[in-house]
Amino acid sequence: MIGVRTVTGDVPAAELGRVDYHEHLFQVSPLLPGDELDDEAASGAEAGHLRDSGFEAMVDATPIGLGRRPAALRRISGATGLRIVATTGTHREQHYPADHWLRELSAADRAELFVRDLTEGMPPEDGPDAADRTDVRAGLVKAGIGYWSISPFERATLDAVAEAASRTGAPVMVHLEFCTAAHEVLDLLEAAGVAASRVVLAHADRDPDSVLHLELAARGAFLGYDGMARPRTRSDAELVGLTEAVVDGGGARHILLGGDVARSTRYLAYGGMPGLGYLGARYVPRLRQAVGETATTRMLVDNPHRFLTWSTPA
Ligand SMILES: [Zn+2]
Repeated sequence: MIGVRTVTGDVPAAELGRVDYHEHLFQVSPLLPGDELDDEAASGAEAGHLRDSGFEAMVDATPIGLGRRPAALRRISGATGLRIVATTGTHREQHYPADHWLRELSAADRAELFVRDLTEGMPPEDGPDAADRTDVRAGLVKAGIGYWSISPFERATLDAVAEAASRTGAPVMVHLEFCTAAHEVLDLLEAAGVAASRVVLAHADRDPDSVLHLELAARGAFLGYDGMARPRTRSDAELVGLTEAVVDGGGARHILLGGDVARSTRYLAYGGMPGLGYLGARYVPRLRQAVGETATTRMLVDNPHRFLTWSTPA
């Protein structure tokens, strides 16, 4: 019985407390120049802000090739007391330069890599010949797709994610652009043996359509709401309104909350704002007022515990 696989070991879900389902303590991508998260001391301080805002656990959602730092995650977990779940898999294709080594890997090769990250440990630095591995294991496997688009690169990862999840029982995260192709991704994963109830659709709130969300929840999927503090695209008021509509429609058991702040210019410890503390300090109180304590606790505690618990391998 694995329970939840964290960077410091496997724990029963009940020990996790409140969970932020989506942040990045380390991330480097050509799509985010000047926003590198690569300073262990600063990322550790920011993790402390998250803890102080009312969280006991978080998912570091950075997949292979984007500056993961497994050993540093374990040190930060030890120093802050935050439980951290690390990620394997890949992001959507655009994050990888044309000559990136990952592009050479078939779906079968990727599945092997993901399974080793989940069961043996992640390498200290991602690379084509990362033979030496740490004993820090990933607890989640991730894929990403484009806007109404699944490229061959992304399809290979989806196939590999399905294979790795079936073989290990690990939970699955899929990055969507504006919640497009959500049904199509669930169809594809289900056909490959992964139930929708094992999958979180990250950034589902970028299409604030409660009817669509209730359809996806009815299939069993988790909805990742992580777009708060982005008034240029959508105000928190609209996100709270969307959440109320989905809760009223019976979808409260399917919502996960995260900040996905993801940029150094948004981290206090890197000199930016509003920081990882925004979710707990500013957003959650508003949400609680709108939907009540029971629904809020589902989103912060019960739902992520259910999602992150490994299932029995197929
Ligand atoms: Zn993210």
